[in-house]
Amino acid sequence: MKTVYADNAATTKLSDTAFEAMLPFLKEEYGNPSSLYTMGQKAEEALFAARETIAGVLNCDSKEITFTSGGSEADNQAILTAATLGEKKGKKHIVSSAFEHHAVLHTLEKLEKQGFEVTLLPVHSDGFVRPDELKNVIREDTALVTIMYANNEIGTVQPIAELGAICRERGVLFHTDAVQAAGHLPIDVQAQNIDLLSISAHKFHGPKGVGALYARKGIPLYTLIEGGAQERGKRAGTQNVAGIAGMAAALKEANEQLEQTNRKVKAMRDRLAEGLSKIPHSKINGDLHRGLAGTLNMCFEGIEGESLLLLLDDRGISASSGSACTSGSLDPSHVLLALGLPHEVAHGSLRISLCEYNTEQEIEHILKHVPEVVAYLRSMSPVWKDLEEGKKQYVIQ
Ligand SMILES: *Cc1c(COP(=O)(O)O)cnc(C)c1O
Repeated sequence: MKTVYADNAATTKLSDTAFEAMLPFLKEEYGNPSSLYTMGQKAEEALFAARETIAGVLNCDSKEITFTSGGSEADNQAILTAATLGEKKGKKHIVSSAFEHHAVLHTLEKLEKQGFEVTLLPVHSDGFVRPDELKNVIREDTALVTIMYANNEIGTVQPIAELGAICRERGVLFHTDAVQAAGHLPIDVQAQNIDLLSISAHKFHGPKGVGALYARKGIPLYTLIEGGAQERGKRAGTQNVAGIAGMAAALKEANEQLEQTNRKVKAMRDRLAEGLSKIPHSKINGDLHRGLAGTLNMCFEGIEGESLLLLLDDRGISASSGSACTSGSLDPSHVLLALGLPHEVAHGSLRISLCEYNTEQEIEHILKHVPEVVAYLRSMSPVWKDLEEGKKQYVIQ
């Protein structure tokens, strides 16, 4: 059997549709979209069409879409935009949540060093912020609320429309990192009161290194990259035409198949959840009913997530212990810690994220191998021995 790819929250396979949409711009249509001759104009038309497509999916105007190098850049630009605008009015307070992506959290840390004050809302043990708690922390000097649409490690989907409505009522800009949501959940920036929103193509079967930032009309974007007048002067640099064409095609395709995909993926994910929950002293993190259809995050007491991943890799399964960005470091996931899990439990985590290309057969493969590997690791773990002998108490019953 070839590798079972179960890490779609980290990145996804390029769809055939996206690939086909990119090809002309990688080959014969290599003109610069800023050039006036025909070949350049073909590229410019592709950007125009992609902007229209993406705007259609998000329910905004195509002028409100700026192309970026991905989700991280869009997050940085959105936050720095709101911070810069706020600062001009003496507003230097930002509200976010404890389990944001590092593209958000590290940008906020940078702003803290520049005198901004950041309030991180708790996400509670279920992985959700509480709208009432947002109401309580917004102040006169709040410049921005930035809360992710769906979490990349545990998949919980936040009450975005409700949070957006609170911000709109209080006159505070609202940004959402929708990188895990775009192509997976319906998005409507009007109905959901969203002012700024980030997406990234490689999370919905588009290419890597390309994304977009939606900014509501009237919000002047802060320029991260200075240079030419591309993207209305708000993001210099010759656009990634092939990537942008691929992103638009992938988003359109994902959006058209959204319900069908979610139904299929959820059925597979639920079967996995049911099977893997039989492993003693294991727990599911997040909320399967109010989460992304394809994401399953679990903790297994007494083991190390990293060892689990390596052994699963030997058995042809690509999964994750959390976010790709934290792997390689020994710190447990900040997301799992934000749920209140103790360090020793957060260390034993596994994230399986499925997509429509996964098969029933692959689910069987995972259902066979994860329990075997967990049992093997436990048999070698001194911590597990102490637990079994009653020298330590199980955290997960
Ligand atoms: C992947 C991801 C990002 C970063 O996107 P890139 O395109 O890889 O820079 C940001 N936020 C979330 C929630 C993500 O899952």
